[in-house]
Amino acid sequence: MTSNAAPRPAVTSFDDFPLDQALQATIVELGYERPSPIQAEAIIPLLEGHDLLGQAATGTGKTAAFMLPMLQRLADQRGQRPEQRRGVFGLILAPTRELAMQVNTAANRYGAGLGVRTLAVYGGAPIGPQLGALRKGVDIVVATPGRAIDLINRGGLKLDGLEVAVLDEADEMLDMGFVEDIETILDATPDTRQTVLFSATMPRRIEKLAQSYLREPITVRIAREELAAGDTPQVRQDAYLVPRSHTTAALGRVLELERPRSAIVFCRTRADVDAVTESLTGRGLRAEALHGGMDQEHRARVVERLRSGRTELLVATDVAARGLDIDLLTHVVNHDVPQTPEAYVHRIGRVGRAGREGIAITLVPPSKRYTLAAVERLTGQSITVAAVPSIDDLRAARLARTESELLDQLGSVTDHGVDDAVWTMIAGLAEEYDPLQVAAAAIRLAQAAAGAPPEEEHIPVIEPREQRPRSFTLDRAGKFGGHERGAKPERGPGRARGAGLGPAKSGTTRLFVSAGRAAGVRPQDIVGALANESGLSGSDIGTIQIHERHALVEVPESAVESVLRELRGGTMLKGRKASIRREKEFRS
Ligand code: AMP
Repeated sequence: MTSNAAPRPAVTSFDDFPLDQALQATIVELGYERPSPIQAEAIIPLLEGHDLLGQAATGTGKTAAFMLPMLQRLADQRGQRPEQRRGVFGLILAPTRELAMQVNTAANRYGAGLGVRTLAVYGGAPIGPQLGALRKGVDIVVATPGRAIDLINRGGLKLDGLEVAVLDEADEMLDMGFVEDIETILDATPDTRQTVLFSATMPRRIEKLAQSYLREPITVRIAREELAAGDTPQVRQDAYLVPRSHTTAALGRVLELERPRSAIVFCRTRADVDAVTESLTGRGLRAEALHGGMDQEHRARVVERLRSGRTELLVATDVAARGLDIDLLTHVVNHDVPQTPEAYVHRIGRVGRAGREGIAITLVPPSKRYTLAAVERLTGQSITVAAVPSIDDLRAARLARTESELLDQLGSVTDHGVDDAVWTMIAGLAEEYDPLQVAAAAIRLAQAAAGAPPEEEHIPVIEPREQRPRSFTLDRAGKFGGHERGAKPERGPGRARGAGLGPAKSGTTRLFVSAGRAAGVRPQDIVGALANESGLSGSDIGTIQIHERHALVEVPESAVESVLRELRGGTMLKGRKASIRREKEFRS
């Protein structure tokens, strides 16, 4: 985090803020234990009346960072405001109605103990009730710029007594062409107001806007990694190289292996949204399109289905997905590489919130590889590049799924749980046939009942060459799609061990992991498990080789003992427990 605020003692508790009892009580009730970094940095300067320019994305706690001081200043001035300055105290401009509603909910929540009157106003809703509510008197208005202008022109929104103006997600508002509206609105407010500008990115246009409308602002910048102190969100970033014309087919394969619980799939155009939704649905994945043209109610229903788990993939354009706030999103998937690195950062800002792990997946045509490097520079985080999973990878994953479903059944099948007639039938068959044959026939029946897997189009393999030193490299034996490239299939641990792997690089030791391709394990899963549980960083981890039933991973010799200590009880990989030990121990 960087800031130009005068040095002050570090704020580590909400008690350190001079906030009203009612606000403190609400914070306790909400279970916030300590201020997030943006709150620690912004709240006191804002209480003192400074302007503020904050670079912070959604999920950093920025809403409370501006809302708590606004509510406190409102409480302080209650009853003292001169007659002519009664009216709207605080105005927050937000790019979309979803965000406006969300901020309004936050204002209500934080201001619950103060009896504050708040109102969200946005386009697409009848203006009459909004005018009516404004006439009755409102302290805090959260508005989209277009509707704010409309209400100002109709005399409903009076800003001549405004004390605080907040521009939330200013870069989004500028991208949507609201710059003139914002200027008109700010020009209708007193020069004495306090102005706060939050933006996830700081392009030149934002700096210019800030120069025109903010007075000697305190600047605060929160890098994404610092979001929640002590509770760093993890966004695993994977990219798959694929020729452009095969993107949709490749996406189907990746999602079938990845099986996200709750994902947004971003597409460039509306036509792509329809084609991708159809293709994913055809694969048996539960996908739904989200269009900008849908009415509010319809959008809300689709989002609700994702929240409740009835659908698992929302396919949308950037515009349609704007302002969506789905707290349990596990994946952000880019069917197309976003236009700018900033747009990428915006998209992936939707996962990895509140300390949860999130996954970002991007399908990249070779001509767009360079944009990944730009994103890595912007975020300071590396992106793992891999080839698209092969047909054999898919088969192995399906088989692993069948096995895990069978294991579930075996765990619950008891003498009492199954019909007597079924036992009698099995016993009869087992007398006449080898029980393995009986089981194989039963599996075939189950697979036939589940329907044939989709016909797979051939996807040319693009090797993820030129791995940067920070990311791990994949050995030939461990790359995805070995069969498609004519490499011999690996059969089992015995063969794999003899496959000429050579000694580990000097200064590193190879660890054996007891799960491999058959369980759907990919290099990034191993990096994730090691980084999560042993404290190694992605850049500490060397070559990873994925074999049919095990994997080998190089780690620095100096870290081996602590990794093995941390992972004594094994680690979870693709939903199963896997053990980790020195490769030497395995061989002896
Ligand atoms: P925001 O970045 O404002 O959208 O906030 C993201 C989420 O963090 C919201 O669900 C807030 O309720 C939550 N939040 C804000 N401040 C804190 C805090 N200090 N501790 C824990 N959660 C917080």
